[in-house]
This record gives sequence, C-alpha cells and structure tokens, in this order.
Amino acid sequence: MSEKNGCSRRNFFKIATALGAGSLLPSGAALAEGEAENSNPVKVPTRTFGKTGVKVSCLALGGMFDTATNQLLLKQALRWGVTYWDTAPSYGNGNSETGFGDFFKKYPETRKEVFFVTKSEKFDPEGLSKSLDESLQRTNAKYFDLFFLHGIKDPGLLNEQTRDWAKNAKAQGKIKLFGFSTHANMEDMLLAASKLGWIDGIMLRYDFRIMGTDKMRSAVDACNKAGIGLTAMKTQGKGAVAVDSQAELELSSRFIKRGFTDAQAKLMAVWQEPKISALCSEMPNMTILMSNIAAALERTKLTAGDLRLMDAFARESSPGYCPGCTSVCETAIGHSAPVGDIMRFLMYFNSYGEADRARRCFAQIPQETRDRLETIDFSAAERLCPQKIEIAKLVRQAVKTLG
Ligand code: SF4
Repeated sequence: MSEKNGCSRRNFFKIATALGAGSLLPSGAALAEGEAENSNPVKVPTRTFGKTGVKVSCLALGGMFDTATNQLLLKQALRWGVTYWDTAPSYGNGNSETGFGDFFKKYPETRKEVFFVTKSEKFDPEGLSKSLDESLQRTNAKYFDLFFLHGIKDPGLLNEQTRDWAKNAKAQGKIKLFGFSTHANMEDMLLAASKLGWIDGIMLRYDFRIMGTDKMRSAVDACNKAGIGLTAMKTQGKGAVAVDSQAELELSSRFIKRGFTDAQAKLMAVWQEPKISALCSEMPNMTILMSNIAAALERTKLTAGDLRLMDAFARESSPGYCPGCTSVCETAIGHSAPVGDIMRFLMYFNSYGEADRARRCFAQIPQETRDRLETIDFSAAERLCPQKIEIAKLVRQAVKTLG
C-alpha cells in the first residue's frame, strides 16, 4: 500500500477518533456528524492499477444501490479519498448510474477526481456501443475510465471483434481502459486474458477462501506479469447458504478484542495481497462506508494465527460457499442450467438479505430454463462439486423463493 497517503499510525488514531470509537469498530452516528466540513481528513491509500500507471484508491465504492437517493454518501466517499467508483446499468434497479449522473451534474469538477467504471451486459459490437452510449448519457460523463464486459465466464468472448471494438471506443475517447468482470470460471478467464495484451483490468470474485489456492495464485500471478489491474469483489466470502461455524464465533471474538470486526479483517486479508490493486465493496450506507475506510487505513498486518483461524472458518463453512467453478458442474449437466449464477443469487438472498436483487437476477434466466430447473438431474454435478454443495436442493430452493 502507498506510503504517501498520510496513513501514519498517528493519522489512523485520528480517523479512529473521528469514527467515535477509538478503534475500527464502526460508529455510524459519529460519522454522520463527521469532522468539521473544512477539515482535511486522511485519505485511503492508493495503488497503481496494473501497467496503466493510474493510481486508484485501494477501496472502491461498489454502487449496486440507489445512489440517486444517497448523494451525501458519494460526497463523503470523495472526502476520504474513495475515488474509484463502480456501477452498472442494472445496479440499484437502474438507479445507480442515474445517481452518479446526478452527482456529476451537481459537482462537475469532481468527475476528474474519480476513476469511474461501468459495464455492459451486451457483448456484441453493436450492443456494446449502444450500452456505452446509454451509460454515458445516464451518468452525465464524457468518458469512462474503465469499461467492463459484465460478469463473463467464456474466454471465447475475448475475441478479435471485442478487441477491435475496445480499440475503437478508446480512439473515440469514450473509454480509457477496457476489461471484464467475472464471477465464474475465473481462473481460466484470468489466464486467457493474461495472454492477450489488450485487457487492461479485471474485476474478479476474490476472498480469504480462494486467494490461497494454487489455481488462483497462478492466475493472479499471470495477470500481474501481464500488467493487468485487478479489482477484488465479493470479498466477504459469503455463501449460498449460511453455515453455523464455531470458528466464525472464535474469529469474531478474536478480532473484536483487537479492535476490528471480522468483516474488516476479511478486507484486510485481501489487501495483504499487493497484486490486487483495489477492493470493491458495496457500501450503501455511511456505517459500512466508514467501517471500510477505517479498515483501509489500518496498517496492522493480520498474523499467521489470524489467517489460520480464517482458514478453519473457510473449511467449516465450505459446503455453503460456491467459488464459481462452473466448468465442473455445468459441464456435468450439459450446460442445461446456470448453476453458478443460481448459487450467487441465493447468496444475495440468504447471506446478503437482498431479496429484490436476488429475484431480479433470477428473473433474467430465460423462462424456458427456469421452467425445467426442477426436472434436471444434478447428481453428476453433485458428485464432482469440490465444495460438496447440495445443488439439487438449493436449485429447488431458488425456484421456490426467487421464482
Ligand atoms: S461445482 Fe460446486 S462449487 Fe463449483 S460452481 Fe458448481 S456448485 Fe459451485
């Protein structure tokens, strides 16, 4: 992490005091009052985004919520140096991009401070151009710093057509950098991208559970060598089902004694990997924003004992966690169902408590696929699933609760 960010231990205590707790424990009330308007708070550290040379805040504001009614939060994020902002046309039920647009209209001078990212869910050249132009219009932006193909898992989409489209959009000044986000088949996606030479950035699911696997380490190393900027998302490592775990209780009380929450410790674990440029977190309210900022400013390293306990928790709760290795289960069922997506939507429902978002996502699965979900034999997929997830049972639950 940058040493030039004003983040000395002394400054950390200054922000901790501003947080009202003298520790990393969040205190929304104290923060809502904040420091005096004219004060100059410390800023979260920055890191270089791949070979682009661009400095981005190590904490990115995930705008999966209604930013239109949350303008104060955007202002606070800027004050604390959270200048990497991430959105998508579908976020906040369509109100995320619009809300960022309202903010830039009101404070046009702030656009240059922000590393602004959106995504396209259309992947053909015509769809990409339409999606980009609509996003530019909604956000009142003249350009995006980074433009992603949204949530892809097929390396075949990284073809010459896509490369030429990105090159042209850059030449037109509409985007500065290009890449993709991915939740599934991630390691293969990263390895494929590392060989291309025209992918600038990738946002991937990355957390304390999977960051240490050999496959993920190799994929991250390959991107790092290729100069691709990496942004971690879904860093809390939540699962499709919540699993009771003794290790989780121990984890929580261990960190509380040291002044962190376990949620903050999970962010800190990701930041301990220097090959990750930024960590994107959904921060729909001031308490989460300030809690995450405090974690970003903390310079204490997690110990080997901390990481061992996290590992124990990961092992105990593994049957509820799906790391998106869809080439295993979806191949076993002849690609008749998007198992990885369904597990993610259940995660939104069961672990994030975001029922509307889970249902909206589930509704995007083609009707004919949804209609036959309960008739598919998932036994081959269950036998191969490395997490031993009860796929058939969870798919039935998804149909019942999200359908
Ligand atoms: S094989 Fe298991 S862990 Fe992997 S994507 Fe499928 S359900 Fe998830």
